Amino acid sequence: KATLSTFLKANKIKLKGTDVPLPMASWSELETRFNVQPWLRTNLDKWGWSVPTAIQRGAMPVLLANRDLLAGAPTGSGKTLAFLLPLLHHLRAPSKKETFRAVIVSPTRELAQQIHDQLRRLSDGRNFRICVLTNTADFSSLSQEPSKRKKFDILISTPLRLVHAVEKEEVELGNVRHLVLDEADRLLEEGFLEQTDSILAACTHPDLRKALFSATLPAGVEEMARTFMVDECRVIVGTKDS
Ligand code: ADP
Ligand code: MG
Repeated sequence: KATLSTFLKANKIKLKGTDVPLPMASWSELETRFNVQPWLRTNLDKWGWSVPTAIQRGAMPVLLANRDLLAGAPTGSGKTLAFLLPLLHHLRAPSKKETFRAVIVSPTRELAQQIHDQLRRLSDGRNFRICVLTNTADFSSLSQEPSKRKKFDILISTPLRLVHAVEKEEVELGNVRHLVLDEADRLLEEGFLEQTDSILAACTHPDLRKALFSATLPAGVEEMARTFMVDECRVIVGTKDS
């Protein structure tokens, strides 16, 4: 009979933290354990991915349980879906009242665009309003006076672009409940600690949940996590030789 420890070993998953939610073995647990809405499962199934990857197995239950997360897994291991699916689960539906309930920070425009593409497919048919701050059309809407601005559910941005928009009061982050810092190790290369601090300072909602994803976990990423994570879960997926 398979035990948890053999499951973790087989998947090369390491868990750290208090009461870390157990990893999931299959997609069906999205419904049975977390009550994920059927449309989300339907959209997920369109990709035809038969099983979750190791980081998806470990990280999704943590985010679905609405805990802070520090996640490490190699490039190409499916980290994007690991944060996008729980995000859409928590937002449930578009909101006419609140703008920017979720923010995803990504180091480059290209990666931001890739996240956007996957998010559009995963939210197909649900009319979530997604703003990619590096796209001129979306951005020009925010440059108008506040009453004329379009409302968005989700914001995707590079860190510098976002810091500037916050400084110019073009975006207001007081409603943000879910903040994802993607490719955190690459964000550090561009001197990201200070930018992260200003983004965090602008996210004033008391129920803010934070997730940090990274291919590697160098000292700078650990330091960044320590400065703002609360009782976080750590989910680390090793490479073959680690
Ligand atoms: P990472 O952010 O970890 O570098 P991505 O999220 O960009 O990785 O995913 C890498 C590739 O794996 C993408 O092409 C994605 O479509 C694919 N992928 C994601 N989840 C699965 C899965 N469960 N099964 C098969 N392929 C997947
Ligand atoms: Mg990625």
